[in-house]
Amino acid sequence: MTLTAERVDTVVHALRRVLRDDQILTSKTDRYNRARVPAPFPVHRWAERLPDLAVLPESTEDVAAVVRIANELLVPVVPRDGGTGLTDGAVPLRGGIVVDVKRMNAIHEIDPVNRTCTVGTGISMLKLNEQLAKHGLIYPDDPASYPCSLVGGRIGTSGWSLIGARYGHTRDLVLSFDHVLPTGEVMHVGDGVGQKITKSSSGYQLKHLFMGHQGTLGIATRATLKLFPKPEAELSPFWAFDNYDDAYACVGDLARAGVATFAGAVLFDEHKVAYLRRDDEAYIPQPSDVRALVCAVMYGYEDEVRPAGKRLLRIAQSHGARYLGDEISEGDWAARHDRYATPLHGRTGNGQVVPMSWHCEDAAINYTHLPAVTREWHDIVAGLRRQSDVFDDWGMFAYTSSDNGTDWLTEIDVGIWEQQLDDRAWALWVQAKRDLAAVSLKYHGSISACHGSCREGEVDLVPDELGRGFQVMLDLKRALDPRNIMNPGKYHLDRAYS
Ligand SMILES: Cc1cc2nc3c(=O)[nH]c(=O)nc-3n(C[C@H](O)[C@H](O)[C@H](O)COP(=O)(O)OP(=O)(O)OC[C@H]3O[C@@H](n4cnc5c(N)ncnc54)[C@H](O)[C@@H]3O)c2cc1C
Repeated sequence: MTLTAERVDTVVHALRRVLRDDQILTSKTDRYNRARVPAPFPVHRWAERLPDLAVLPESTEDVAAVVRIANELLVPVVPRDGGTGLTDGAVPLRGGIVVDVKRMNAIHEIDPVNRTCTVGTGISMLKLNEQLAKHGLIYPDDPASYPCSLVGGRIGTSGWSLIGARYGHTRDLVLSFDHVLPTGEVMHVGDGVGQKITKSSSGYQLKHLFMGHQGTLGIATRATLKLFPKPEAELSPFWAFDNYDDAYACVGDLARAGVATFAGAVLFDEHKVAYLRRDDEAYIPQPSDVRALVCAVMYGYEDEVRPAGKRLLRIAQSHGARYLGDEISEGDWAARHDRYATPLHGRTGNGQVVPMSWHCEDAAINYTHLPAVTREWHDIVAGLRRQSDVFDDWGMFAYTSSDNGTDWLTEIDVGIWEQQLDDRAWALWVQAKRDLAAVSLKYHGSISACHGSCREGEVDLVPDELGRGFQVMLDLKRALDPRNIMNPGKYHLDRAYS
């Protein structure tokens, strides 16, 4: 909390001009509930990241009115959707007003002919797809957080989808949106003057600028999305390997095969298989000679998916893959949305089982560099474990980001014993995050493929990744948010005002 009680009263008084009382939340519980995110943070410091109040707008006009008041009174505004972001984007670093858009969850239009729908950005993909299924359609943005992340947060992070190799990622699937700028003006972001154009060559391509900014450039309120026929068939074979190298070679060949129904592939490394076998109750344990796993996923019509599956099977067999059977394949793929909702066990250095929270570091890495990054990242986490019992290595995944195997979302999962995360352990973790990011840059990658890079530690290397582009980012921020009210403190953007 950063405002004095008197200032909070002034803000509430001003907000009452534009919102009803039930849209303005000031209680401790309401504020704590809107500060919590999944990424572990020292419990004794949680109070540092509280908003002074939260609001529940119901329309673009409500959001614009709140942002105009925040400008007038110089109060920070932090957009929040599902609160599942893993880089603290929705966490208020300077107090102020959290704009929780969950009530803006209407489906305004389903247009089966032009294959689009228009929704409030507070809707989840799960709820949207329940309605689209009645029309035989699907909105295929499919993160592991599918049931609980919302369309606005997907825009705020420019999210990555597990089946993006077939359907594209959030940036491809969101056609246009209404957007409240940091000044409170409303703009339409997208191609063409309507909402449903997928390609324009007029002027700057602003859609990308207003996606993935982590709420620092405004708030998306209503979005038009691209739809596809709901696929008739899904095939998700899982294959076992007795070593990482064969699995790595196999997953690359699968992604490069150019199969049209190919939606994605995943490589589980040795540490990941060992962790799942040891501590994940949802996992069907594999024999100890299984050291790495590969999964490939295809979506489409029955008569295209089956032959495609046979082709990928031949590729996998040529690398010595062992098919794990339909039950494991279908079950493990179905569990992609709920794995991290289960209670989590981690292990200290001497093997003691303790409750741990999940944290995931992600990077975008070219195929050729995956083994080196995998090795160096595990070494960094091993170093952490030597210094503190608070951390556990839960292994790594690599997922296809593109449809031809160019780059891979590379993720290391780290268990963190959050209740024991004292200042010393936190400092170790922040340094480790810097080190992990440095490895990604050393191998010509991006610090993050999807979560964003504004958390303590990694954020220090963002200017290295962007080069001159970081200065452009500062110039844009100052031009669009002259009073620095929109999610201040993120991405070192305060430097724009110094
Ligand atoms: C179990 C789990 C699995 C995950 N798997 C994936 C995955 O597969 N792929 C992936 O991409 N991510 C994944 N994530 C991360 C997270 O779900 C995504 O970053 C998601 O896009 C965040 O959406 P949200 O609605 O929760 O947004 P929030 O966390 O509420 O917000 C995220 C950021 O967007 C900003 N924002 C929120 N609403 C708006 C808005 N309306 N307009 C503009 N900015 C806004 C916020 O200020 C914040 O900076 C996972 C997270 C968890 C917990």
